[in-house]
Amino acid sequence: MVSRIIPVEPFDLVVFGGTGDLARRKILPALFRRFCSGQMPDGSKVVGAARSALSSEAYRATVSTALKEFAGELALDDAQVAEFCEHVDYVAVDARGEGGWSELAALLTPGSVRAFYFSVGPGVFSDLAKGLKRHGLVEDDTRIVVEKPFGHDLESAQALNSELAQYFDEGQIYRIDHYLGKETVQNLMAVRFGNMLFEPLWNAQYIDHIQITVAETVGVAGRGDYYEKSGAMRDMVQNHLMQLLCLIAMEPPAQFEPDAVRDEKLKVIRALDNVQPHHIVRGQYTAADGAAAYREDVDNARSKTESFVALKCQVNNWRWAGTPFYLRTGKRLSARDSEITVVFKDTPHSIFGPEAGRHRNELNIQLQPNEGITLNVTIKEPGPGGMRLVDVPLDMSFAEALGPSAEGTPDAYERLIMDVIRGNQTLFMRDDEVEAAWAWTDPIIRGWEARGDVPKPYDAFSDGPDDAELMMRRDARAWRGLDK
Ligand code: NAP
Repeated sequence: MVSRIIPVEPFDLVVFGGTGDLARRKILPALFRRFCSGQMPDGSKVVGAARSALSSEAYRATVSTALKEFAGELALDDAQVAEFCEHVDYVAVDARGEGGWSELAALLTPGSVRAFYFSVGPGVFSDLAKGLKRHGLVEDDTRIVVEKPFGHDLESAQALNSELAQYFDEGQIYRIDHYLGKETVQNLMAVRFGNMLFEPLWNAQYIDHIQITVAETVGVAGRGDYYEKSGAMRDMVQNHLMQLLCLIAMEPPAQFEPDAVRDEKLKVIRALDNVQPHHIVRGQYTAADGAAAYREDVDNARSKTESFVALKCQVNNWRWAGTPFYLRTGKRLSARDSEITVVFKDTPHSIFGPEAGRHRNELNIQLQPNEGITLNVTIKEPGPGGMRLVDVPLDMSFAEALGPSAEGTPDAYERLIMDVIRGNQTLFMRDDEVEAAWAWTDPIIRGWEARGDVPKPYDAFSDGPDDAELMMRRDARAWRGLDK
């Protein structure tokens, strides 16, 4: 397959928090891979910025080490790494201080596209926005990329939105959710809106229910301070799972354009019902199989923070009335598996009789670890012995269907960073979307707090608390097994 790369003009990208974990593991490797694909034209610059006093030379050495560790095979080519590092500089700037801004300004090219990636803690976001404006670094073609968490609740998200709005237009603010940069997530839109086959069936009349699962095997060790104040609801459901739900449930936008898509997503969030307490299960992992308990990981023997959430919700509109959406996410589960499953209804009548068993079409969209889409269809099992039915997958695994592309499937961060450079906000969350998502999440969290709700224990590396299974069983349904 011939890869079609849309060229970009030279740009400057400043990574605030350029020495941090996210920069080393994701942002710099993503930039390096785009560089290797020819998407960093001469004259482009990557500037790391943080408080630590470092020379550009020393920073290039850390970048090169990070690339060797996290950028895969491409980084085995020392010459290529060295060439990329020629684009890299470093400036010591405290987002809350006065020093370093003019040195930073001197490195940037006036008139070029300029992006500032806020890969710093959320407490620094508004100071950084203010600092950039106050020190004259914001031009017409300037964008900021804001990492999660975007607020802690509706009030803090509104406050952050209005602070950022003092210094930047909404069209300059890119609130990143890396789930939206995944190839399969975009393919979901291609499958839904590029085919005649699915959309006529994409409603409550033909779909029994939809499941969205984001399961992780990792615990929270190392991020305990942050996670303890956040929990799975704020860390995963309010952003990643809600965004996936929006893309699955939204009406066709008139064009594949930023505001057309975001308007439709917003309508979905606003149509969500208030989740009833008995439609939510919270869990917290306990020690098992050599893994410590959540409470040890966060060093709080009485923690009531959830590391697992499963919930049932409804999108109250014409298309979806009566079709439940089941969302589930957790840490220290039995597999790393992110997927969406659309379970279609039974045929209205089985001409094959009860002995043929129950067969349903399922569309499974795998986001992690392997990206791909599978449609289960029911066929006759080959051979004699009567009409025995069996479900077989029609597999749309990208690697097999399309062949390996010259550059492999780009990582979500690669795609999203290049969207920022191109000025395409389609895959970034708008201010009203983020606020609507918090407005839906807040009452759920407040209810837990008011009731002193304690999460149900579940063994590390299990499939979560039994109550999550029970919730499904009450509806005569079952979670799709995690892909191990
Ligand atoms: P981190 O490892 O703690 O790094 C923070 C970075 O910010 C460091 O480079 C630090 O360097 C710099 N910094 C801190 N205060 C600063 C200030 N006042 N002015 C300038 N630079 C400052 O954090 P991280 O894990 O990379 O996370 C960064 C952001 O991404 C956070 O908002 C986090 O929630 C988000 N995020 C991270 C991940 C992840 O996997 N790591 C995933 C999703 C979202 P100095 O101390 O030298 O200033």
